[in-house]
Amino acid sequence: MLSFLVVFTTVLSFAQLQSPEQFLGYPLGSHYTAHFKIVNYVYHVAQQVPDMVKVEKYGETNEGRPLLMVYIATRENLANLENIRKNNLRLANSSLDKMAATEDAPVIVWMSYNVHGNEPSSSEAAMLTLYDLANPSNTKTKEWLKNTVVIIDPCINPDGRDRYVNWVNQAVGKYPNPNPIAREHNEPWPGGRTNHYNFDLNRDWAWQTQIESQQRLAKYNQWLPQVHIDFHEQGYNAPYYFAPAAEPFHEVITPWQREFQNTIGRNNAKHFDENGWLYFTKERFDLFYPSYGDTYPIYNGSIGMTYEQGGHSRGGLAVVQEDGDTLTLHDRLIHHYTTGMSTIEITSQNASRVVKEFHKYFNAAVQTPFGEFKSYVIKNDGTDKIDRLKTLLNRNMIDWSYTNAATLTGLNYQTGKTEPFKAEGGDIVVNSNQPKSNLVKVLFERISKLSDSATYDITAWSVPFAYGLKAFGMKDYVPGAGKNNILGFASVDDMPFEKIYAYVVKWNGLNSAKFLSELLRNNVKVRYAELPFKVGNKDFDKGSLIITKASNYGLGKNMETIIKNAAVNNAIGVSAVPTGFVDKGFDIGSDKVKFIHPPKVALLYGNEVSSNGMGEIWHFFDQQLNYPITLVSADALGRMEPGDFNVLIIPDGYYTMFSQKEQNDQLKDWVRKGGKIIAIENAVAQMSRNDWGFKLKGSGDDKKEEPKKDDYNLLKKYENRERDYLINSIPGSIFKVEIDNSHPLGFGYGDTYYTLKQDENIYEFLKDGWNVGILKKDNYISGFTGSKLKEKLKDGTLFGEMDMGRGSVIILADNPMFRSFWENGKLLFCNAVFLAGQ
Ligand SMILES: [Zn+2]
Repeated sequence: MLSFLVVFTTVLSFAQLQSPEQFLGYPLGSHYTAHFKIVNYVYHVAQQVPDMVKVEKYGETNEGRPLLMVYIATRENLANLENIRKNNLRLANSSLDKMAATEDAPVIVWMSYNVHGNEPSSSEAAMLTLYDLANPSNTKTKEWLKNTVVIIDPCINPDGRDRYVNWVNQAVGKYPNPNPIAREHNEPWPGGRTNHYNFDLNRDWAWQTQIESQQRLAKYNQWLPQVHIDFHEQGYNAPYYFAPAAEPFHEVITPWQREFQNTIGRNNAKHFDENGWLYFTKERFDLFYPSYGDTYPIYNGSIGMTYEQGGHSRGGLAVVQEDGDTLTLHDRLIHHYTTGMSTIEITSQNASRVVKEFHKYFNAAVQTPFGEFKSYVIKNDGTDKIDRLKTLLNRNMIDWSYTNAATLTGLNYQTGKTEPFKAEGGDIVVNSNQPKSNLVKVLFERISKLSDSATYDITAWSVPFAYGLKAFGMKDYVPGAGKNNILGFASVDDMPFEKIYAYVVKWNGLNSAKFLSELLRNNVKVRYAELPFKVGNKDFDKGSLIITKASNYGLGKNMETIIKNAAVNNAIGVSAVPTGFVDKGFDIGSDKVKFIHPPKVALLYGNEVSSNGMGEIWHFFDQQLNYPITLVSADALGRMEPGDFNVLIIPDGYYTMFSQKEQNDQLKDWVRKGGKIIAIENAVAQMSRNDWGFKLKGSGDDKKEEPKKDDYNLLKKYENRERDYLINSIPGSIFKVEIDNSHPLGFGYGDTYYTLKQDENIYEFLKDGWNVGILKKDNYISGFTGSKLKEKLKDGTLFGEMDMGRGSVIILADNPMFRSFWENGKLLFCNAVFLAGQ
């Protein structure tokens, strides 16, 4: 029945190689295998078949689990692995050695398993796949390996996998219960899908905000396989899904990439047909957003594909489906095993064509890059944002360089108009004639062209907007002036400590906030200027941090050491001033210079909280800002003692407390006594319904204003139901927000901010508060926004602050921390935590 399985009949010299069942002591699919056992099995195979299998540990997870790559090849190819890799990079025009590539080379198939931890059948399948590729008596796979190198990443997300597996192994009894209502089919919060910080690693390929992605992508970009499979699971009633993918396809995807997806899909179908298994193709899983395990490889010259088995999260060891059949873990892993093997088989059969087309793809990338713009110039605004952009480009192996000083003409991203501008030495140019040409186009395009609006994810991510940098799209190449990978550096004014009255630091980026965090951690008392000022010949903008000797006498000369260290650690320039008497503005002792009460921050977690939204903030405090944060269950809020915390962050979620008067009143009381709430996305909407002093637009009387419709227009055709839904849909678009940067929530920004809008929520202008970020008319920039919503999203507030007693409420209707890739939102969030409402 299973065409790939070879019955193990004879015991010869390779008697030591054990099947997964022999090694683990149970048949695959009868138990969930903990990650360490998968690791042990992988090493076992490599030890027993060392001339065909090599394991490389490429990193570790947040919780310290190993991340592995396994290479499987013929004895000759494995011995020659490094040369094969180098030649492959030459085929991709990505080698620095400038040697000629040979097309007479093996094809590389890379298979990634278990990126979502609670889609666990795939890592079980990985063990069986590895075994059958390595097993010397399996002659079929030996035939394929003659022209194919297989790379297996047996588990991309070990922390998530073990979270799921440990739980399900605890929840299941002696006999699996297939009833979907049973405990073993209902995972507790936050579920095993994501990594330690609740990040979805299948949204992180391009941005690489997470260490798993950073370590893996470094390896991936040193290989650039011709074929990449990302194994997933979906709802347990769904039939298997494999390529070809669904529309929309991004326009950079080549006819060859489409064609070979189709070829692979037909081969998978052949094997599924032989077994009578249900499957579907060309629906639901599109190829657009660039940070998936299928699209990212595609934008890097590969045939990237997602394979989806039914069973994710709720599959257990066995579950009854809607048709009455029982789906077992064994079924699930055999399906994944089958598509994996089928993909190697068909790729091997077409190896020389696949390699030739791969070479062609990269020749086109450097010779005739696709798209309107030949280059992108990004302005250096003197903040750390440009360094963050350089890091992003470097991580993706995108070539860039500094520009020469020149007057150029290009499309201004902010105005949407073609106009002349001055390029200066510190600006960056990314030319499109490079191996990463298509990736560059996708990441930098101002507006992404949608072939179909029914997509799975956000439809706008344009890097200049996400990073808050001015950019121009150019019709010509712009010669570069070289590059270096030096990021910002520290400087501290050379003034004897005895002469110093205060230190001053600009507030203009994440590094400023990290610097502040380090000072507060070291018990340094810090103030900020509410208005611009000038001392000596130095101008300082509002928001500047001021550290006086006054208030810090207790630290003695240690203060200097702490500040110098913090400057170095965070690449910050520190000015020293000898007097509190300013030449312009208010003196340092003025009440316009505010004391920063060190935030004691609580972050809600638990059943009612969006795990992604909570995780983004947790990761930010823990890994980026290095500032202490306490995770508090929403149920435990009532037990919070006054003084435990002075900042409460309420991420996106659905909170019962906001529908209960007593709990609302308690929370309001906590704010009036000096607490600060930072509410994000849907948390804001729920508070707005409970008299917190702000109101959702379109929630009340203005609904009456909707024009009367012709009744016949209300009739909907059943077959159009998916399209009709899109009129009200907004899967993530960019809007221009006008910022009141005289308010601390807007410090460090110009008068605009570009927001990623993911819902329809917009608030009436606050009457008793500060409207810091507002949408005017015609502020839509790019991304799919349903026709009805475009009308609605104007003349309202997205970011604001309201004083309440001695405390305040900060509303962030859009999430500035989304997937941690919207770099320009991080300062806004830091303003909310450290400066606003002081
Ligand atoms: Zn998945």
